[in-house]
Amino acid sequence: MGSKYKRILIKLSGEALAGEGEFGIDTNKAHSLAEEIKEVHDLGVEIALVVGGGNIIRGTNLAKVGIDRATADYMGMLATIQNALALQDACEKKGLYTRVQSAIEINSIAESYIRRRAVRHLEKRRIVIFAGGTGNPYFTTDTTASLRAVEVGCDVILKATKVDGVYTADPKKDNGAQRYSQISFMESINRRLKVMDSTALSLCMENNMPIIVFDIFKQGNLKDLITGKNIGTLISN
Ligand code: UDP
Repeated sequence: MGSKYKRILIKLSGEALAGEGEFGIDTNKAHSLAEEIKEVHDLGVEIALVVGGGNIIRGTNLAKVGIDRATADYMGMLATIQNALALQDACEKKGLYTRVQSAIEINSIAESYIRRRAVRHLEKRRIVIFAGGTGNPYFTTDTTASLRAVEVGCDVILKATKVDGVYTADPKKDNGAQRYSQISFMESINRRLKVMDSTALSLCMENNMPIIVFDIFKQGNLKDLITGKNIGTLISN
């Protein structure tokens, strides 16, 4: 079965790469993610990735222990570049062609983000990994995912998480929590559901960019999603 989408953006949190204690980079995780990514790439879909940095540094946490927030955020952005390189390595070991484009100039390590160039890479079936967040403090990589998906014309954002969608409450804390199969941007903002931050959600809402929240750790889920199976939670207008 073929892909339902032509071009997708997958948002991976830093946690998706984390080892013990949700910290650092576990190469096994990177390799299994790369395997899932390859499976969907083989279906012909163009793939952009945005990776977070929370497994190494999260700006808000460092700010709490006394580092200036903007500085802490820049440190967080650097963490996303490290994750991007780990993912690039894992993807290339599976035979995929990739490019890392960073929002922060770091020329000896990665290309700088140039929209038209990113689009060209995608057209050539290279996987483009957007690193360095938006390049601005006080933003998140969820917002980066929304921005880049809109900029390069993706059909959908696939937000990879540890849970299989958006719930009415935290399913770990509340037995009665129900999973939404679909929810509007407005409702998820109003209910303050912790799916994505409100900046990311409003950017998607204004630009009609659907998001599907799904469990990346269940093997085959990504492929099932791409081929049109009803998985996770769809957030749309
Ligand atoms: N960050 C930032 N601007 C951005 C994107 C990220 O300042 O545009 C910083 C921020 O400190 C954030 C950290 O990078 O905490 C890591 O990103 P994020 O928390 O979004 O990663 P995730 O939760 O997806 O692992």
